[in-house]
Amino acid sequence: MPTVDFTLRWADDTEQRCQSPSTAIEPYLAEGASYPHEELLRRTRDGLTAASDRVVEVYGMACTAAAAQLEAIERAARPGLVTVTRLRRAPTRIRFPAPERLSGHYEVVIVGGGQAGLAVSHCLLERGVRHVVLERDRVLHNWRDARWDAFSLVTPNWQCALPGHPYAGDDPDGFMVKDEILAYVEPYAQGKPVYEGVTVHAVRPGFEVETSHGTLTADQVVLAVGGYHVPRAPDLGLPGIHSAAYRNPHALPDGPVLVVGTGQSGAQIAEDLHLAGREVHLAVGTAPRVARFYRGRDCVAWLQDMGHYDMPVTEHPQGKGARHEANHYVTGRGGGHDLDLRAFARERMHLHGRLTHVEDGTLHFAGDLQQNLDAADATMERIKDAIDRHIAANAIDAPTEPRYTPVWRPLTDGSGTLEATEISTIVWATGFTPSWSFVHLPEAFDADGHPEHLRGVTAVDGLYFIGLPWLHTWGSGRFAGIARDAEHLAEAIGARAARPQAA
Ligand SMILES: Cc1cc2nc3c(=O)[nH]c(=O)nc-3n(C[C@H](O)[C@H](O)[C@H](O)COP(=O)(O)OP(=O)(O)OC[C@H]3O[C@@H](n4cnc5c(N)ncnc54)[C@H](O)[C@@H]3O)c2cc1C
Repeated sequence: MPTVDFTLRWADDTEQRCQSPSTAIEPYLAEGASYPHEELLRRTRDGLTAASDRVVEVYGMACTAAAAQLEAIERAARPGLVTVTRLRRAPTRIRFPAPERLSGHYEVVIVGGGQAGLAVSHCLLERGVRHVVLERDRVLHNWRDARWDAFSLVTPNWQCALPGHPYAGDDPDGFMVKDEILAYVEPYAQGKPVYEGVTVHAVRPGFEVETSHGTLTADQVVLAVGGYHVPRAPDLGLPGIHSAAYRNPHALPDGPVLVVGTGQSGAQIAEDLHLAGREVHLAVGTAPRVARFYRGRDCVAWLQDMGHYDMPVTEHPQGKGARHEANHYVTGRGGGHDLDLRAFARERMHLHGRLTHVEDGTLHFAGDLQQNLDAADATMERIKDAIDRHIAANAIDAPTEPRYTPVWRPLTDGSGTLEATEISTIVWATGFTPSWSFVHLPEAFDADGHPEHLRGVTAVDGLYFIGLPWLHTWGSGRFAGIARDAEHLAEAIGARAARPQAA
């Protein structure tokens, strides 16, 4: 049974390391959240009791460890705010253990064992290219550990098309929930040359690959470390967690919650909290939105037929700028529906403009709420216009449908302030900062430090990127486009491997 390690930082800055004998504690505490000490005691008591009950259920005997842990927490308790600085499932099962020391030479080293790294591995295995995949955590770590409990795909299941591993379930138009996604992706790692628990600390010219388990050399290196590296959240001295650490409404401290940001994560987390009956303040940003369904079909299905997902970034109206745009917000939850922030406001969610700054415990919001809501709706309607044109041009028999009319309008411009004391915690859905400092090959980056490449192939002979948003097409950073990109890189890798190299 997986245990959960968690660390508490009491108000006097002392830290206490704790353990729960089962994951049943997870709904009661959130990593990064701060709780008044009485609430923390109540939550750990309830959480450890639930964990102990789970042990009884599974093993038929009471768990003394949970009771001893609770006693230790009660003894250490100090008045004031307590922060859960760490909360992690102890790794139960490393399925692909690495030898204690790694060394030697490989044709190809793939850094990262997410869907992108495994997809490249699949394509290299087909071509007989000798390689290894190095994963610092467990394979597919982000799908397992960095999504909230009620997470479901935003993209329909038929877009889950890993090379050699298409979606084979009975609901291609549905949206898999977290456990279903894992059941789909986990078998994909089988039979691939993966080492888990190996962190790549540096990639140097040559190539020299310095890892937590020793240094390897390689002819070619694929960087498959995803596009979402370091959670971005300002340190304002206020209780809060990043969206990557958010799990469920119950794990957050009692009281009103402020969600900052309305990209895909922010809008879905705001809905998750709202559906659980939590009082939610939402700082609305500039992310666009898209309707789930229009004229009888999922908009993703229309866009697929319209060739949108085949458009290379070089033909995108914003060019490489598309790589830095927020995703359109919509959800696959419960079979899929629109995320209409105005409808949430009608149901008493408090909408504000963008959060601009915090001063002396006061949060300040910009006066751009109306503008941001209107712009998101306008994008949604423009996409519908394009679908209408496609239907007309191809004489498709599709039902008609009335266009969206706003169901709520703000009475103010959304500017104003909120005292930090009026909310119990903040969920920062403010994205991620890239971190490429481990790659000591400056020719692979532009002047702003962003990866510089053509379909993942860099100016450094034998160095590649994969899995980044809009690396080549819309689907490059998602399930939808990874097969095409992995095939392309495997071709390039195979061709270079076959080329005689300078001594
Ligand atoms: C909230 C959210 C919702 C999403 N929803 C969808 C969706 O509905 N549909 C869809 O198709 N896509 C979705 N995506 C996008 C995408 O599918 C995921 O981001 C996917 O995880 C990308 O796979 P990847 O392999 O490129 O990167 P990752 O999954 O990030 O994998 C990279 C791996 O590299 C490892 N790693 C990093 N650094 C090192 C190092 N130095 N050494 C060794 N290993 C390292 C990491 O531990 C990780 O396992 C979503 C993304 C997010 C964040």
